[in-house]
Amino acid sequence: MSPTPLVLGRFSLGVGDRFAHEAEAQLAACVAARKLGVEIVPVWNKSNREHNIIGSEPASTRAAADAAVKALGWKSPYFLDADHIGLKTVDRFVGVSDFFTIDVADFIAQPADPAAVKAFVDRHPELVGTIALAGIDRPFTTTRADVERTAAKFLLAVQEAGKVHRHIAAAKGVGRFVPEISMDETDSPQTPPELLVILAAIADEGVPIQTIAPKFTGRFNKGVDYVGDLAQFEREFNDDLCVIAHAVRRYGLPANLKLSVHSGSDKFSIYPAIRRALAKHGAGVHVKTAGTTWLEEVIGLAEAGGAGLALAKEIYAEALSHMDELCQPYATVIDIDRSRLPAAAVVNGWTSGQFVGALRHDQGNPLYNANIRQLIHVGFKVAAKMGPRYLEQLKACRESCSRNVTANLLERHIRPLFL
Ligand SMILES: [Zn+2]
Repeated sequence: MSPTPLVLGRFSLGVGDRFAHEAEAQLAACVAARKLGVEIVPVWNKSNREHNIIGSEPASTRAAADAAVKALGWKSPYFLDADHIGLKTVDRFVGVSDFFTIDVADFIAQPADPAAVKAFVDRHPELVGTIALAGIDRPFTTTRADVERTAAKFLLAVQEAGKVHRHIAAAKGVGRFVPEISMDETDSPQTPPELLVILAAIADEGVPIQTIAPKFTGRFNKGVDYVGDLAQFEREFNDDLCVIAHAVRRYGLPANLKLSVHSGSDKFSIYPAIRRALAKHGAGVHVKTAGTTWLEEVIGLAEAGGAGLALAKEIYAEALSHMDELCQPYATVIDIDRSRLPAAAVVNGWTSGQFVGALRHDQGNPLYNANIRQLIHVGFKVAAKMGPRYLEQLKACRESCSRNVTANLLERHIRPLFL
């Protein structure tokens, strides 16, 4: 008898923890949410890129999550996400992860084999013509050429996802992990009609995905609010939910398949639209909030004053002087106006209240500075280089760090999205 497959629940939060010290504070937000009436599945995610920058191993993420679960007596599911992996990077995660974000963005637009494209379109005549989906007012109208173009653009990426999935499944067994396919780190957003073609192809490839991360319209910069057309986002998000519901029925994809919103932390202006759409369609969502916790650590240090504040200032000064190097891996997901970054000498004169006011994501506070916030967001390498000096200060300022981590997830993320 095969064991019950692992199933991701309706609402889940990707909680990244750069230095593996906040798992308990993060889980405390899920515990509080449950008391308030909503079940949130915590998913600790850390990408290969982040492990490399910090010099950590996936086993440390597993150890921190397991310890938090034990300490708080969490009896519900939780997962460890090997975030943004591919065939070349997945192996170090296979032993400890039970959720895999298979990133195939680099394969989008690499032309697929024309014969495979033709076979796909021949196999799917239902994708050509007028497609009326429940919940969408205006049907999609597509020509065979449209579907061919979309298939040519995405088929190779989907085939690659199939390869990675089979590679993981060979080691762990099908159903022993949650597969996600991500296409978010690319130039142009995928439209709802494209998503339908992609899902048909994923079903053909036999990947039982439970979450899919398309690139949505608008800017999802790290740690700051959404920038884009709110009405268009809401329309497309709703259409995507209808496409997913249809694809689940039509192509036999897992019934719990849902959208995954990457760089989903701090996108306060779209949370009301997401919340409305989830309620309207009875849908679930996975929201990745990785970097927001590291920012709360720095806020916690600054709030503690004394040596904590001094270290927070040092992180800012170092980040400022290594800005190009720190920003480079994240160039497509940050927009920093360098003229709005104060000199290190200015920040060195700040009080705890000034530093916290600049960094905490409270857009109503005149001290708030989105440029500082994005710079610190990508600046965790500075803390990684500090090594034990950073970690000791985290311990010394435990109360304020934990309090800020929990409150941020609960009050600024879980509450507006789910409560
Ligand atoms: Zn992502």
